[in-house]
Amino acid sequence: MATGTETADGVRVIDVAIIGGGAAGMTAALYAARGRRSTVLFEGGVLGGQIANSDLVENYPGFPDGIGGFDLAMAMHQQAAKFDVETVYASVAELLVEEPYFVLVTDTGDRFRAETVIVTAGAEYNRLGIPGELELTGRGVSYCATCDAAFFRDQEVIVVGGGDAAVEEAIFTTRYARKVTLVHRRDELRAQRVLQERAFANDTIEFAWNTVVEEIHGTDAVEGVTVRNLETDETRRMDVTGVFIFIGQTPNSSILRGLVDLDEGGHAVVNEWMETKVPGLFVAGDLRSQAARQLVSAAGDGATAAIRAEHYLADHFDK
Ligand code: NAP
Repeated sequence: MATGTETADGVRVIDVAIIGGGAAGMTAALYAARGRRSTVLFEGGVLGGQIANSDLVENYPGFPDGIGGFDLAMAMHQQAAKFDVETVYASVAELLVEEPYFVLVTDTGDRFRAETVIVTAGAEYNRLGIPGELELTGRGVSYCATCDAAFFRDQEVIVVGGGDAAVEEAIFTTRYARKVTLVHRRDELRAQRVLQERAFANDTIEFAWNTVVEEIHGTDAVEGVTVRNLETDETRRMDVTGVFIFIGQTPNSSILRGLVDLDEGGHAVVNEWMETKVPGLFVAGDLRSQAARQLVSAAGDGATAAIRAEHYLADHFDK
């Protein structure tokens, strides 16, 4: 049975709409639905968000041996569904304020009214924007080592970036590749010290410091890259077959533009209750400003937003 009530014009009204099915969204959904609010979770891609691509999650409490990201995502969804969360597999293309409701229009043209909305739409991987990158994506260029590293058994690959994601994924890729060169534009890594130590201790990883990738070569598959040393201005070709790119992410904030305040990186500005400046509209997880960008903090954000949304419903809709 569909969640919520239907108005005279045939548009469903739900208590809590959650946009995005990652850890923040699924936790918000669990809390809202367990609080007996009609709850709909909208997800246009894969449930789980970033963890869906994680081979092993080691830093989520309660799993001393770690847990596969996809398995954890499925368990989170199952747990939310147990409390009657309805999942709509569509992206929300438009979010409008028509007081006292929010109106959500999906990319499939369906409309919903919601009394409160929690946006947990996360972020997308950044691209280098160099020749060969788009053409060879899925043919040796990848943004997910956990998904694709196994294709590079005994081959030579590069990993681009110097943050947590690049270093973590470089280490993971050494399970398969013969040689992994971490190409970073500066001479020091941004990643956490524990990850740096692991990478420096790993004999399969080499480092190309102060270096950028200028072009990815190949027609049907990656055959090599041209890199440039920023200090010497020298370019050289590296005959690698894999290019893993981890240079940060861009928040999925397009539906929030003009509605709420965004910081310079495009993350939504919220207070400690995940409230935006629009009453009843919350943003949680990687999409919000000043997030720790961890799985556990995203889940915590989702819970905080749902608890505050509950207060909002009680105050504004006398429920
Ligand atoms: P990030 O921390 O923003 O790092 C991006 C890296 O890419 C930086 O080293 C940056 O160089 C480099 N970069 C950016 N644009 C570039 C360009 N155009 N060309 C070449 N290099 C470029 O991003 P992230 O590693 O994806 O991490 C995102 C967030 O998730 C972080 O808060 C991170 O802590 C978190 N995270 C945590 C874990 C974990 O705890 N296990 C794992 C993954 C991610 P500069 O250093 O020179 O700026």
